[in-house]
Amino acid sequence: MRRKRAAAALLAAGLLLCASCQAREEAVSAAPVYSLATVFTQEIYAGDAAVLEQTPALLAALDAKYNRFSQTSELSAVNAAAGGAPVTVSEEMLGLLARAQEYAESTGGAFSPTLAPLTSLWDFEEKICPAPAAVEAALPQCDGSVLALDAAAGTAFLSQAGAGLDLGALVKGYAVERILEQYRVAGVTSALVSCGSSIGLVGTKPSGADFLIGVRDPDGGAGDFIATLALSDCLLSTSGDYERQFEADGVRYHHILDPATGWPARSGLRAVTVVGQDGAATDAFSTAAYVLGLTDGAAAVRAAGMEAVFVTEDGSICVTPGLEGKITVTDARYTLRVLSE
Ligand code: AMP
Ligand code: MG
Repeated sequence: MRRKRAAAALLAAGLLLCASCQAREEAVSAAPVYSLATVFTQEIYAGDAAVLEQTPALLAALDAKYNRFSQTSELSAVNAAAGGAPVTVSEEMLGLLARAQEYAESTGGAFSPTLAPLTSLWDFEEKICPAPAAVEAALPQCDGSVLALDAAAGTAFLSQAGAGLDLGALVKGYAVERILEQYRVAGVTSALVSCGSSIGLVGTKPSGADFLIGVRDPDGGAGDFIATLALSDCLLSTSGDYERQFEADGVRYHHILDPATGWPARSGLRAVTVVGQDGAATDAFSTAAYVLGLTDGAAAVRAAGMEAVFVTEDGSICVTPGLEGKITVTDARYTLRVLSE
């Protein structure tokens, strides 16, 4: 079967709307919102579309808190005080950091919210790869134990000088989750939000049909997909080695780092999509499952009550049992395998 090319505008990263989804069933959409270094698009199929107008303010507030590159963000305040004193943070940020710690624990550290000393050594635009000595020096500062939260005092503390938070692996999924919350409060019963790497779905399409979501071809362009997922009422996030990467001296370097080595993860995977009910978790676990590889990644995702699609380097699309019957492979180069319980 030939590869299909989607004409969707949602081309930012791992997930995109299939061409067939573009035949809208009377969706109302808003202008795309640029935030958290990506573009959010929204479509309301059933419910009061006035809620669309609340999204820019919500995303601006999240960006003001979690943007690692803004000097004035709450996250930067915590990073700036590393090795000094605990910093009072908002209840919301404390909650998200607690969730991040929980995900770090349940993925055996494959997801880590404290990788800034490592991630800041890379520049994927400029193709800058760190020196091995710099990676070795940064590793101890990235240990999960550097982050201490005090719920009673309302503080976050990085105990080592040079340590730093980077929530880039979960904040976009979290933002989609928060947008969906606003929709639900407003009584919206059918909608789709996407920032490319994370998608949120409220209900089904008005016809009762599932939304069709494309799984991106890791070797193709942003509009190429290799499979489709038929889904409703859930969130999903993708991590792929094609998102931010470059090649130097015949080696391909990408942005998903293995916290154990400090280098881009080499786990036999090209991409992982995690499907669940909680966007921060789907996002964090898609990153972690990429690092863990097929077997351990699937175990971690299932233990957390979620499902996943793994695109392997050797041309398999492997799904956890809960996605059997929901995925259709559309590219003959790939074979489908349903993982056992
Ligand atoms: P994602 O695209 O959701 O997989 O997130 C990748 C981004 O999160 C990278 O650009 C880094 O900023 C950061 N990151 C990379 N590796 C990890 C990791 N193992 N755990 C947590 N954050 C990571
Ligand atoms: Mg992620």
